[in-house]
Parts: sequence; structure tokens; C-alpha cells
Amino acid sequence: MAILPIRLFGDPVLRARASKVSRVDRGARRLMENMTDTMREAPGIGLAAPQVGVLRRIIVWENEEDRGCLANPVMLQQDGSVEGEEGCLSMPGITYPVVRSQFIVVEGIDENGDEVQLETQDLTARIIQHEIDHLNGVLFIDHLPPALRKEAIGVLRELQETWALQEAAR
Ligand code: ZN
Repeated sequence: MAILPIRLFGDPVLRARASKVSRVDRGARRLMENMTDTMREAPGIGLAAPQVGVLRRIIVWENEEDRGCLANPVMLQQDGSVEGEEGCLSMPGITYPVVRSQFIVVEGIDENGDEVQLETQDLTARIIQHEIDHLNGVLFIDHLPPALRKEAIGVLRELQETWALQEAAR
């Protein structure tokens, strides 16, 4: 078990595009495990590899109803639209309502190296959409209306000073 440092807003790795995993080998599996440990420790309900500084297309999630991890996740279908409060482990301290698809069908490779197709909805669908965004350098604040996004960035700039102090005290 390893807890990895979570990259915070302002870190350029969060704006980069992650590349595909060629196969789920021992290294990829270990990364999935470490990401799951890191997400639980935070605690959070989802994490994407770029958030721990790894530009690979891997996501993990866990909530009361569902848990899982996927390499190379691809959205096949999205339906419905629902607004819900969202936060991000890379932006601790802010939450905003974000509109997401309610139902999704996603495919990818699981921790056993098997191709899987998942049909899911509500919270798990929201998490997976949020985490796939991370693989493309997109953050949840990018989905906010311009005025709200500007406000969020202002709050984050202030929080960045607090994070820097916490980092220095470590
Ligand atoms: Zn996030």
C-alpha cells in the first residue's frame, strides 16, 4: 500500500492530456491499487492518474454503491442531464454544482486486463465523467458558467497560499 501525493490546482500536469495504457500489466495494476489507497486516505470518491502526476489513462472510483477502476476509459453513450455538487481532490476547499449526464455507458480495461463495458448512472456516472475529464486536462470548474468559474479560480488562488504553507510545514 502506498499513498501518493495528490497534485493540486496550478500544477501543469492537471492540464496535460494523458496517454493510453498499452496493457494492464503489473505496473498498471500497482498504480490502480496505489491510486485506490490514495483516494481512500484523502478521503475521496474518485481519482485519475494525472492527479498523482502520472499521465496515463487510468481512473479509480469508490462510493457506497459501487467501486472500480478502468484503464483507457471511453464513453460510448450519455443520456439525461442532472445537476449535482462536485468537488475535486486537486482543488480541496471548493464545491460547485455541475451539470452531467445521468446515465452513461463506458468501456475500458479493468484491473484483470479484461475489456469491460459498464452501464451506470447518478453518482458513479458523475464520478466517471469527472475522472475522464482529468485524463484530457479538463477540470470540473471548466464546466461552470463564466462568472462562477471566475469566482472559483479566485477562491483557488487564495487557497493556493494555504496549500503552499501546508506544504512548507510538512
Ligand atoms: Zn477531480
